[in-house]
Amino acid sequence: MAKTGMFKTQAKRILILPGDGIGPEVMSEVRRVVDWLTRKRKIAFEITERPVGGASIDAFGTPLTDDTMALALHSDAVLLGAVGGPKWDNLPFEKKPERGLLRLRKEMELFANLRPAVVFDALAEASTLKLEVVKGLDIMILRELVGGVYFGEPRGITTLPDGTRKGVNTQVYTTPEIERIARVAFDLARKRGKKVCSVEKANVMESGVLWREVVQDVHDREAKDIALSHMYADNCAMQLVRNPRQFDVIVTDNLFGDLLSDCAAMLTGSLGMLPSASLGAADAAGRRKAMYEPVHGSAPDIAGQGLANPLATLLSFGMMLRYSFDMGAEADLIERATAAVLDQGYRSADIMQPGKTKVSTTGMGDAILKALDQIG
Ligand code: NAD
Repeated sequence: MAKTGMFKTQAKRILILPGDGIGPEVMSEVRRVVDWLTRKRKIAFEITERPVGGASIDAFGTPLTDDTMALALHSDAVLLGAVGGPKWDNLPFEKKPERGLLRLRKEMELFANLRPAVVFDALAEASTLKLEVVKGLDIMILRELVGGVYFGEPRGITTLPDGTRKGVNTQVYTTPEIERIARVAFDLARKRGKKVCSVEKANVMESGVLWREVVQDVHDREAKDIALSHMYADNCAMQLVRNPRQFDVIVTDNLFGDLLSDCAAMLTGSLGMLPSASLGAADAAGRRKAMYEPVHGSAPDIAGQGLANPLATLLSFGMMLRYSFDMGAEADLIERATAAVLDQGYRSADIMQPGKTKVSTTGMGDAILKALDQIG
């Protein structure tokens, strides 16, 4: 644990939850970067580490203990690896590793999910899209995470009098739910390209009509400095593969965000490179509860073999520096070190290309530290 006495600012309290499969392997490499920042930049971190998911089931019989949940609520930010694996697949639904993750999201009230899609020059050819379409891509999909059709009532499957069955889910959004996600979108855009595209299906859904009106109202009241446009979700899916660089921040609901963020992710060509952040409401001091995690899962097929790419988790830590700690310079440093190791030709197995240097999980960590020493 880093001591705070020698540092000017208060230590940043981070709860690290490595989880299962490749989670602990990739997290070890991030810990080395955290140590580097403490040594070289005199940034104090107070790190607490706990098991989550399958690892917590094995240790405590539950995917997330109350103690760990309390720690998450009292940390400045949470960094999660990944949970799950075949060992725990047959447990009842309430006991599964993923329940730990859902409880964290629910009790921290993480309503805003940030999924950047960035194409590093060195990997632009890995995209299934043409180089000229994706080169230099840097967009952010902002998905509302706790409302909409995945949670709306009524829901369920009923049997009708004639014996046929009916499945129902309800798309619901209230004004406050739309306002708070719109505010996050405008805040994000202010730190980026100053453009927000709000996405719904106002042509066929009343919830979409309300979404459009409320986002426009928040814009007109609070965010006139940001260029706001509106787009139907089906068109947005097309535009993402036709000309993704037209976007800066896309803000959308839970369902459309689920689909569009995966679509945008694939523009970058690699699961091992994709970070994410989930943010809650701001408190009186402007601080938001936050959890950062790679988009990928626990990859049991490669766990324990030194094959995992640690960059998605490292970039998630970079997002933590930017969005929880307002350390834009350090976040930039991590992104520049990542670009540098890729430019130098280092590749983990998942992003290996002919003529490049294949490195293990630790080898990628070594390369990152070397790059940090050079540019930091
Ligand atoms: P996955 O993301 O774990 O793996 C998909 C494929 O991508 C695998 O071939 C894997 O080897 C590869 N891959 C993923 N991350 C990589 C990395 N960093 N470096 C190199 N290769 C990487 O998805 P899956 O196979 O569908 O799920 C495996 C387990 O993870 C399941 O138990 C699932 O429930 C869980 N899961 C957890 C999360 C999470 O914790 N947020 C997310 C998705 C899946």
